Amino acid sequence: MSLVIFNTQTKKKEEFRPLNPPKVSMYVCGPTVYDFLHIGNFRGAVFFNLVRNWLEKLGYQVTFVYNYTDVDDKIIDRANREGKKSEDIANQFIEEFKKDFNSLELKPHSHNPRVTEFMGPIVSTIEKLIANKKAYVIDGEVLCSIEDIPRYGKLSGKKIDELVAGIRVEVDKRKKNPFDFSLWKPAKPGEPKWPSPWGDGRPGWHIECTAMSQTLLGETIDIHGGGIDLIFPHHENEIAQSEGASNRPFVTIWMHNEFLNFGDEKMSKSLGNIITGRNFFTTYHPEIFKYMMTSTHYRSKIDFSVNQVSHAVSGLARFYSALALSSEIIESEVKAETLDPEFKKVLESAGQGIEVGLNDDFNTPEVLARIFEVVRAFNQSYTRGQKITEKVKARALAFSAWLRDHGALMALFQKEPKAFLGVLDDMLLKQMSLLRSDIDSLVNLRIEARKNKNFAESDRLRDELSQKGISVHDTPTGTFWEVKK
Ligand code: AMP
Ligand code: ZN
Repeated sequence: MSLVIFNTQTKKKEEFRPLNPPKVSMYVCGPTVYDFLHIGNFRGAVFFNLVRNWLEKLGYQVTFVYNYTDVDDKIIDRANREGKKSEDIANQFIEEFKKDFNSLELKPHSHNPRVTEFMGPIVSTIEKLIANKKAYVIDGEVLCSIEDIPRYGKLSGKKIDELVAGIRVEVDKRKKNPFDFSLWKPAKPGEPKWPSPWGDGRPGWHIECTAMSQTLLGETIDIHGGGIDLIFPHHENEIAQSEGASNRPFVTIWMHNEFLNFGDEKMSKSLGNIITGRNFFTTYHPEIFKYMMTSTHYRSKIDFSVNQVSHAVSGLARFYSALALSSEIIESEVKAETLDPEFKKVLESAGQGIEVGLNDDFNTPEVLARIFEVVRAFNQSYTRGQKITEKVKARALAFSAWLRDHGALMALFQKEPKAFLGVLDDMLLKQMSLLRSDIDSLVNLRIEARKNKNFAESDRLRDELSQKGISVHDTPTGTFWEVKK
């Protein structure tokens, strides 16, 4: 069974064939580090972590590069506003990014290059473009000449004539074509600058990714990714520069994740409709975010809403409650027999379904549906309080290992289940302005009433708790409560 991936360039699903198997090279455009990132920015981080994990599961050795853009107008503007050096702003927000990224518990990337460390390769790539007559110099600025790039527009489907016809603002008359873009910009007062054959200055945005990816991964890379907003001009221009300099194909498969929307529009700092990763991960939980991102296919939009968060909480609670039940069974003294063929078949068939789903352009909703089938089958095997048999123990062991193994691909379901369910409860109690101690008191009153055979009072207390959004479970091992999810 082979892996097929939707290639933005051909608009088709294609069989994945890396250039030098078992090695796979992967480059994903990372953040511009001038502020905290919003949760839209983290959609790609979560998704491409799965792509990498799945490729590794298929036996590939993946080198995954995710860069920091630490030279940019927005960084310079903020530094000037705050009377700081642009380097300090970049360092500050790289550190903040790392905190958020670490809280997601994804696999670290192989390399996190910074533009400022790649000035040598940037300058030499620009020199190659000039030598290949794909770029020209005007007043200390180097521009890429798009009319000299064969098939410019092949990724985005844009045509040079149509682009030019659509121009509404005055164009820079010095340019050969109004869409020629900067590879190197001359220094302006108060801006960071580096020496170059064309005078002191700084690189344009697109050339950074060309230089970093070609230096770390070679002239042709297997997978290049990012959000769909990067298709044009950023990725189109990366192709122009990279192929213009090396005369080789730059990328085999282009992958783009759709947006996370908020209030019917792309979540974006310039529109002001953002929730920072930091805010989300502390108000809710990183696991909830990962689950939300995984529940929708990466090429479909996600509309963020509080309702959707509640949906994710209910989903996660179902998976983690089954894991909590399996832990209780595993902790019992009973010896496990070998796994019965019926449950073995359930696990195998769901495992195959997951493989088919992931091999079909990373169909994560299908993966979650298959995992849920297994959860349902496991829940049907045993009800809390029943006698734990050797067969049940074997099922619990197999279920929990299987769920954790498959969840790891998406960085989900790795938490200690009881503790995580407690975290969800605390989060919901806070939202409902309820105190754990108040709930405990009501539940204890009810236990007391039951002891005294005062069933009317016990039922009244159950109703009162239920109205507050709390469900109470009486089991042979005792009474416990949870927030309804
Ligand atoms: P930026 O720092 O704006 O260059 O964005 C960093 C990454 O986040 C890029 O891959 C963008 O495509 C991606 N991105 C930005 N906004 C969103 C959004 N609302 N939804 C999904 N991805 C986004
Ligand atoms: Zn890039």
